[in-house]
Amino acid sequence: MIERFAPSPTGLLHLGHAYSALLAFDAARTNNGTFLLRIEDIDLARCKPAFEQAIYDDLAWLGLSWPSPVMRQSTRLPAYEAALQQLIALDLCYPCKCTRKDIAQAMSAPQEGVNPGPDGPVYPGICRGRTMIESAKTDAIRLDMRKAVAQMPRTLSYIETAGETPEIIEINTDKLLAECGDIVLARKDIGTSYHLSVVVDDAAQNITHVTRGCDLAPATPIHRLLQALLELPTPLYRHHRLIRDESGKRLAKRDDARAIAKYRADGASPQDVREMVGL
Ligand code: GLU
Repeated sequence: MIERFAPSPTGLLHLGHAYSALLAFDAARTNNGTFLLRIEDIDLARCKPAFEQAIYDDLAWLGLSWPSPVMRQSTRLPAYEAALQQLIALDLCYPCKCTRKDIAQAMSAPQEGVNPGPDGPVYPGICRGRTMIESAKTDAIRLDMRKAVAQMPRTLSYIETAGETPEIIEINTDKLLAECGDIVLARKDIGTSYHLSVVVDDAAQNITHVTRGCDLAPATPIHRLLQALLELPTPLYRHHRLIRDESGKRLAKRDDARAIAKYRADGASPQDVREMVGL
């Protein structure tokens, strides 16, 4: 068993992160497995070295340990580029020059009331006719979901282990078209995306069990599809409940009142934090 905790250093870790990291760490320890830490810092504009240091400090204080060196996504860009090239070679990609504003304008009337997917509203396909030969440095690269789905069986599946018994979750690939559409694989500013890098790295680190909040469950069908297209293994997934504040709102990074560092400073013990998150 190889578990991982993969935070982005864009803020202080809060109780929800503590819960996720402790679940993964405890599961690995109980099963004589390995717990890995991965720093997801591809978005350099939002990530700060001080937050990365706080991740190490808070997790060590909670009693967690992990092998060094820690994988940091900012050092992995060639691996993401190679995966992107694989998808381009399969003829599944196109360059997109749309700004958020272009997309909003194209969608304003007809898409009203449509539920946004895991990456927000489904891209209306303005650039779909463009080919990779026309791509410029300032373009994002999108996955042509129609072509991708056409190469796949009608259902893909993964195993969800959050419940009492493991459950096979079937993903209807047509639903991927309707709910996710042509997702961005490589943003113009960073040359990759959360979806692409997480899939590449879970495979590179031989992750067997992904433990993360159920807010990320809508992204898992995309990850499963990318694993199939890139011929990568699929880990088991455990999408756990979210930790909420008294009003029922889920915690966010800007919610410093619930930061692990704040409880530490106030004299709480790691055991207190475990109890606060119901462990
Ligand atoms: N880096 C992501 C986050 O901090 C988590 C990625 C994952 O667990 O798949 O929300």
